Amino acid sequence: MLLMKHTQQRNEYVTKQYQTSSELQQKKKNKITTQQKENFEFRQRQMQYITKRYKQSVDFRQRQKEYYTNQYRQNDKFKQQRQSYITQLYANDQTFRVRHRELMKQRMRDMYKNNLSYKMRCALRITRKYRQIINPTHEDHRGNENPLIAEAISIFRSHIQAGPTYVCTVCHKVSFPNQVKPCKRSSYVRNPDVVATCLTGKYVHVCDDECRNKQCTVPDQRKSEWICFTCDNNLKNGVMPTLGVANNLQLAEIPPELLNLNILERHLVAKCITFAKIFLFLKADREQYMATLFVFHLRCRKLSMLSPD
Ligand SMILES: [Zn+2]
Ligand SMILES: [Zn+2]
Repeated sequence: MLLMKHTQQRNEYVTKQYQTSSELQQKKKNKITTQQKENFEFRQRQMQYITKRYKQSVDFRQRQKEYYTNQYRQNDKFKQQRQSYITQLYANDQTFRVRHRELMKQRMRDMYKNNLSYKMRCALRITRKYRQIINPTHEDHRGNENPLIAEAISIFRSHIQAGPTYVCTVCHKVSFPNQVKPCKRSSYVRNPDVVATCLTGKYVHVCDDECRNKQCTVPDQRKSEWICFTCDNNLKNGVMPTLGVANNLQLAEIPPELLNLNILERHLVAKCITFAKIFLFLKADREQYMATLFVFHLRCRKLSMLSPD
């Protein structure tokens, strides 16, 4: 009991001495530094002690963090050492690398969610990047670089060159040549009644005497019967094609007074005008297209009142 009291008194005395005398503080620090440098066991023990305290004491943890933050801000040498240590760790330790990436991802997500100015900065950066990628020579440049892409573009251009002039015999839709196939009537053997009503052959041009005498001006694709792939599949399965004209989807004949209108006149009498706008999105190496269809409804009655006749 007496010994314990004596030890306590001694401890208090040493602590007080340490707190008041700067010379003693310096001496102690020097001793620890020397031991740290020279004594491996001491260093090991000290590290264990610090790790243990860091885990257990909130106060100690806070102080340590503050100390390191201050050192990092004020001491250039310390900053450099830390940076090179972290770079080495990131390069060599896979666990650290995975953990660090996850931490950064989470931090970015939080910042994006909570910080409006950061969100704006991100949006501006993406806009700038997008502008840099899209330039007038971009497509040609890419085409020249990769012969496969250049070939694909030239095939696509050859397909669309004459416009959509191939008519499906079943749904009467006009398509590009790669969207239809020649109609072989003999290949549709299921449900012959449906097949017979669906294959209209309406727009197939057969040269008559007048035509033959004058030399026919009708394009070659109008002289054969074509079918689109959807209708072809339906007929092969013996079912009524959804968009088939025979499915009560026939359109009324165009009256002769409307047949020869020019584009402007057609626009004036149209109930609605449609056009498509195609957007190109660039994200990394992949391209994405999006098309939007615009439909404008026109008030023909108002327009007719404006016209002079
Ligand atoms: Zn069709
Ligand atoms: Zn003809």
